[in-house]
Amino acid sequence: MKEKIEFIHAHEILDSRGNPTLNVSVLLNNGSHGSASVPSGASTGIHEALELRDGDKNRYNGKGVLRAVKNVNTKIASVLHGMDAMDIEKIDDTMRILDGTVNKHRLGANAILGVSIACAHAGARRRKMPLYKHLRDIYSLDHQTYKLPTPLMNVFNGGRHASTNLDMQEFIIIPHGFSRFSRKLRAGAEIYHALGEILRKDRMDTDLGDEGGYAPNVGKTEDALEYLKKAVQKAKYKVGKEIGFGIDVAASEFYDPRKDRYVLKTDRIKYNADQMIDLYARWSKKYPLISVEDGLDQDAWDGWQKMTAKLGKQMMLIGDDLFVTNPERIQKGIDNKVANAVLIKVNQIGTLSETMQAIKLAQRNKYKVVISHRSGETADTTIADLAVAVNAQYIKTGAPSRSERLVKYNRLLEIEEELIIK
Ligand code: PGA
Ligand code: ZN
Repeated sequence: MKEKIEFIHAHEILDSRGNPTLNVSVLLNNGSHGSASVPSGASTGIHEALELRDGDKNRYNGKGVLRAVKNVNTKIASVLHGMDAMDIEKIDDTMRILDGTVNKHRLGANAILGVSIACAHAGARRRKMPLYKHLRDIYSLDHQTYKLPTPLMNVFNGGRHASTNLDMQEFIIIPHGFSRFSRKLRAGAEIYHALGEILRKDRMDTDLGDEGGYAPNVGKTEDALEYLKKAVQKAKYKVGKEIGFGIDVAASEFYDPRKDRYVLKTDRIKYNADQMIDLYARWSKKYPLISVEDGLDQDAWDGWQKMTAKLGKQMMLIGDDLFVTNPERIQKGIDNKVANAVLIKVNQIGTLSETMQAIKLAQRNKYKVVISHRSGETADTTIADLAVAVNAQYIKTGAPSRSERLVKYNRLLEIEEELIIK
């Protein structure tokens, strides 16, 4: 089946933080269409593909994306016109070559990604199949069955996602003690509400951070873990057995390269890499801490190697800013025994095909795969389908709150229903 691209159109929309991003529509010659909206991070890794913004301070503080929109509507649209929407790898390659730069700064990774994902949706519509099936098929993924991911739910927000005193970015509950996705989600939501009640009683702030988790000031970093523990107990779940904990340290955000120290303002302390690793080891004795993301800086390869040797057997060590969904950096991690899980964010690399390459590389080497949202999100649900297409073990898409987070969880509920009925 060959399905020609007839028309591509992008326009500027606003994301969950009120910042501009792109929505892209693709129309095929048979009338099928697909659309996609592009997410945007705040704690962006320095090795990520470039998100093209206008820089015109008179519009949205320089954050407009009209140049990226124009790139889609002119350069990209004219090159892709008439191409087969089923052949996403060729489409993605064509855009990569047209851009011609390593980090996609000429056209913008946001422009390229919007087109890439919109083409995938148009193809799925044409074949009248759900996106996860279409993706599994066109990327020749050879998993036999479908498995839904376990949610990593960021219920306590800090770092760049909140204006509080908490340096570390995310405190996460992992409802791994249940088999059905819907049951895991329910546990997560009940614990989230219990957490809210406890915070209110303690007269703590119950305002929310960018990913829908609570975001109060704390006395010390560890208080966040204590609150998670109390919330799990209040909601009558078993700490550890049913609910594990995770953290996204996003350590690059508070690493001082001149002094080679991690500056934890919350605790008025400066740690070197060894001390950070010891901290995680200590916490894992006191709490069911089974996942640490970006525990060290994005270029601290030696430290990461030490951390993996010390903690890699007992917990998931996820590379986010470290790997930036980039197959070359993931390969470097594999070669050096660094980390044991990869965070996958489609806009870090900028095409669906390179994202798939990163996922396949991770899976071939037994690294766990965590499909992730960004802190700036839209109503787009593509990552839910992506997680199911590749049988990712985990999905990270925020607290069970705020629609831009919940659409992904709700899409997974829908997929679960669909798979059970069939
Ligand atoms: P970001 O945060 O989208 O702001 O980069 C998410 C993360 O670090 O995992
Ligand atoms: Zn992260």
